Amino acid sequence: MKRLKIVKHNFDKWVYNTNIFTFLVWTALVVNVIYVVLFMCVRHFLLAVIYSGEIVYFFSLLNKRDENGRNSGFQMIGMTMCIYISTVLSILLLGADYSFNSILLSMIPVFFFVEYLLMDSSILSYISSAVILITDIILVLLNDRFVTKSLTVIEKNIFQSFNWIVSIFFTVFSATVFMAEVFNISSGLTNQNRKLNELANHDPLTQLLLRRPMQEYIDKCVEQKKLYSKDYVVCIGDIDLFKKFNDEYGHDCGDVVLKTVSRLIADGVGNGNYVCRWGGEEILILFPDNTMYEAEKVIEKVRVTIEKTIISYKDANVHVTMTFGISSSEKHIMSHEVIESADKALYKGKQSGRNKVCCG
Ligand code: GH3
Ligand code: MG
Ligand code: MG
Repeated sequence: MKRLKIVKHNFDKWVYNTNIFTFLVWTALVVNVIYVVLFMCVRHFLLAVIYSGEIVYFFSLLNKRDENGRNSGFQMIGMTMCIYISTVLSILLLGADYSFNSILLSMIPVFFFVEYLLMDSSILSYISSAVILITDIILVLLNDRFVTKSLTVIEKNIFQSFNWIVSIFFTVFSATVFMAEVFNISSGLTNQNRKLNELANHDPLTQLLLRRPMQEYIDKCVEQKKLYSKDYVVCIGDIDLFKKFNDEYGHDCGDVVLKTVSRLIADGVGNGNYVCRWGGEEILILFPDNTMYEAEKVIEKVRVTIEKTIISYKDANVHVTMTFGISSSEKHIMSHEVIESADKALYKGKQSGRNKVCCG
């Protein structure tokens, strides 16, 4: 059971650590460009070509994401294998005297880090570490047998210094991330619970709250009103002529618009207020601490922002407007009455030309 949790946790990390992977790929890209320049300078064109090929592969990794923005595990393993192979070739073709060995050894924490992200810290990490160590010993024992170019003292110093910088970076970076992850398993599990909770309470398309958790927040406001006579405000927004929009630009474009509009509303109403996907393209906003006047001002700003926002989708630049209806708990006892009143205000807004904020 425990193991299952940890594996799930790793899956979570896998999803959320894409940025770390991207950072690693970008670093490897920059480092490889410098290597290509260095190899060109010492006229070792074979290694320059090998490292250029690697650049192309790394670059392709940056764009290979699934629809959730994740990289696949094979890409991570592919990247580390590439660095391993090119380093081995560098030692074979230049000799063991240029500190490429330090890079090879720095791949040990990198493999731990990658495999830990991929799955539970596994036997594979130990196998790859053993392979790296054995390769390194063999390469040193081969004693410069395949060297294709001897470098000057200055060139040698440049390679040695740069290789040490790169290996220290790889070691410190991957060891730090790996250790941080290992020691954070317990808090990671808490994070995992939080994320599962988020998944259960939020709409996958818009990331807004779903109806049920929103109802719980409304119930809390009702409680507050009973206890302290504290009023709350409810606003319902509906995208104007969205059916027609979908017909014209397609449902996928409609989804992008719905997503964008949801983000604009969530950003616009700020912290402390709750935004929920109430129905298809209807969004309900709960202001627990604002007066009707304050909420109206906030929503009017949001309405203008939506009106002015151009949304790019494929070749099209589209834009939509929204109508909002607002109501306060001042004049109503039951929460559903407040919502109905906001809905009526919205209807009034639709009837009188749309793209406006109406108060109920
Ligand atoms: P009105 O200005 O009166 O609101 O006109 P409308 O066409 O927007 O009418 P209504 O609000 O009744 O239409 C809702 C439309 O919203 C129907 C459906 O095509 C679209 N819709 C609902 N949910 C989604 C969704 O998740 N994605 C997309 N793309 N469209 C949705
Ligand atoms: Mg609509
Ligand atoms: Mg609607």
